[in-house]
Amino acid sequence: MKIDIATLFPEMCESFLSESVVGRARTPSATGTAPVEINCFNIRDYAGNRHNRVDDKAYGGGIGMVIRAEPVYACVTDIIRKGLKSPPKLIYMSPQGRTLTQGFVKELAREEWLVILCGHYEGVDCRVTEELGFTEISVGDYVVTGGELPALILTDAVTRLQKGVLPDDSAFTDDSHWNGALEHPLYTRPEIWRGRSVPGILLSGHHGNIARWKEEEAAKVTGLKRPDLLSK
Ligand code: SAM
Repeated sequence: MKIDIATLFPEMCESFLSESVVGRARTPSATGTAPVEINCFNIRDYAGNRHNRVDDKAYGGGIGMVIRAEPVYACVTDIIRKGLKSPPKLIYMSPQGRTLTQGFVKELAREEWLVILCGHYEGVDCRVTEELGFTEISVGDYVVTGGELPALILTDAVTRLQKGVLPDDSAFTDDSHWNGALEHPLYTRPEIWRGRSVPGILLSGHHGNIARWKEEEAAKVTGLKRPDLLSK
């Protein structure tokens, strides 16, 4: 999978993208391939003026600045020109978009190529996202300063579903939200910690009973923490 991120803060993105699971997923194996290729592009490089200014005042007033359409257009069309033969799915991270869920992540993880646009200030001139046909995606009903953290959440969530990134599919199919429920409680050593014991069944070595316990506990936890998920 290929992911290109258009941002005003490529270093901020790179510092996250070079660590942990995503960092390893970008690292080519002995055969020279990697499960994901991720690149960051600086929208400022496409400012088209001496001061690399990409923002301007909003028509109609308001305190914040707006990212101009032309630098975004120039950046994204350059990414597309340099990329794959088939067109990418264009995503604008926006609090006004469709909310990201695990089901939506599964859909996006099947795409060959994502180009993700991060807004900043008050956002992006809407004419460029309309012109290029961006899909807006939100990470939740709240507002953060820029699209970088939302873009990194999306990138992380789709990367960990790519073949060869995690040791086994069960590493994500057992997780919360994969099948609409939450995961069962987790325990590790020691067996007794501050008087709290690990449930005996987990020490029994009986795989069938353990699997049943995990299912029952997952249902219990879901009912307690997220009863809304059960009705879905
Ligand atoms: N004025 C915008 C509005 O009211 O819809 C919010 C702008 S926000 C301060 C700046 C940028 O952060 C947005 O352009 C978007 O890229 C990103 N952003 C903020 N909240 C987000 C969210 N919940 N999901 C995805 N992106 C978000």
